[in-house]
Amino acid sequence: MANADKFKKVIAHAKEYGFVFQSSEIYDGLSAVYDYGQNGSELKNNIKRYWLDSMVKLHENIVGIDSAIFMHPTVWKASGHVGAFNDPLIDNKDSKKRYRADVLIEDFVEKINIKIKKDIAKAKKRFGDAFDEKEFRSTNGRILDRQKKIDEILLRFKTAMEKEDLADVKQIIIDNGIICPVSGSKNWTDVRQFNLMFDTKLGSVSEEADVIYLRPETAQGIFVNYLNVQKTGRMKLPFGIAQIGKAFRNEIVARQFIFRMREFEQMEMQFFIRPGEEDKWFEYWKSLRMKWHEALGLGKEKYRFHDHENLAHYAKAATDIEFDFPFGFKELEGIHSRTDFDLSQHQEFSGKKLQYFDPELNKSYVPYVIETSIGVDRMFLTVLATSFEEEEIKKENGKIETRTVLRIPPALAPIKAAILPLMKKDGLAEKAREILDDLKYDFNCQYEEKDSIGKRYRRQDAIGTPYCITVDHQTLEDETVTIRERDTMQQERVEIRKLSSIIDGKVNFKNLFKKLR
Ligand code: ATP
Repeated sequence: MANADKFKKVIAHAKEYGFVFQSSEIYDGLSAVYDYGQNGSELKNNIKRYWLDSMVKLHENIVGIDSAIFMHPTVWKASGHVGAFNDPLIDNKDSKKRYRADVLIEDFVEKINIKIKKDIAKAKKRFGDAFDEKEFRSTNGRILDRQKKIDEILLRFKTAMEKEDLADVKQIIIDNGIICPVSGSKNWTDVRQFNLMFDTKLGSVSEEADVIYLRPETAQGIFVNYLNVQKTGRMKLPFGIAQIGKAFRNEIVARQFIFRMREFEQMEMQFFIRPGEEDKWFEYWKSLRMKWHEALGLGKEKYRFHDHENLAHYAKAATDIEFDFPFGFKELEGIHSRTDFDLSQHQEFSGKKLQYFDPELNKSYVPYVIETSIGVDRMFLTVLATSFEEEEIKKENGKIETRTVLRIPPALAPIKAAILPLMKKDGLAEKAREILDDLKYDFNCQYEEKDSIGKRYRRQDAIGTPYCITVDHQTLEDETVTIRERDTMQQERVEIRKLSSIIDGKVNFKNLFKKLR
């Protein structure tokens, strides 16, 4: 199935099975804002728990906080967001559509890239085993020309952005004949900078009210609490502060479902360290964060690092963990070595000392920071899109049937087990409820008695429930049930008293945490 088709199916499935709904849908929705339904919110909570526990429970020196969304307006001056949290935007006068100029240019470059890839694929076919891609790239005239064009465009764009030369950004679009995908015209407005922060007013009297912002990231809530946590928790360097919370960005182009939203959630951790130790800790967090992703078993080949070449002036190093989304490799998480930039800025703007007295060195300094930052919603999308499968199964009568199954990592599955009485009568429903009453304290379970057992299995497959437990007449005689496993569809007769440990063995977070050692 083509990726685009699969992605459409995933989005439809997310709605049909109570994972993700368009916000305010009965009013035709609100662009790039989504609600999580009964199954989606469970999956999301499990993702958050996996992240927070891996930080706070597994590290003696990391603690969690929950800071407010509203912050003092000066915070965003100190952080640089008021001056520089901008995207360059451009409008097409014919279609009246608005675009991010950088995205238009990147998409144009990607088209040239695709042509290069096609040439390479053709040559590979022609030359067979003897084909050497590296040599072909460095000698084939057409490819060299195309690569040169890409390099020139990207360099010119980078220089224009650094010089804040928005006229030249527009000129790049004109010179390369980039057209509006909707109107097909080159009738562009000038490029303008657009600040992504939402603002609102604090206070009841509007004339006197101060403009404040909805936070565009959770990290600043951590920086401004650095000293509070360090002092009250008697934390010694190195130590980390982790936080999960909502962030808001007025994204110009919102697309790709929950990949780019205007209201979303972040999981961020700032690790405060002694200056000079940043390279060691940067490597530590790079490797641990990758392990965290890989432990889920979605496929190692789906992740890659993308090191930033154009670093912010204060950054020592930065890398993205990219994921192979249905629309290609895109940023899932950022890991940044941020020096003492953030704390020093807050020190300067607030006039309060934000330092650490290092007893070993017998001196005070502003700690350096390594940051890990990941979007909950993007993480949710990796799990949902990768676990969605339409599987063909051969029935006993030889017929082929398709079952839709979400192979969600068991620890993250919204429902861990479904308890299904074969029929309502003969005391089977009561027995099933008895089992449910026993399991529900440890696991999120569901009881279902409607429709045939086959239909009930399909419904549970479609929401990714690892186990279905069926209660039949034999159960009443010998205290056994059949337990069916989601991925293999294997059924096994087991004693009721063993159910808890069987389910636990599969869904316990410990299975994931052990892989992080
Ligand atoms: P992008 O380049 O995709 O806009 P970014 O570099 O601006 O992302 P950061 O500011 O580093 O993103 O934010 C950290 C993480 O927050 C990202 O890796 C991503 O997972 C998530 N994130 C950022 N913006 C959004 C958004 N609009 N919707 C959903 N998640 C987001």
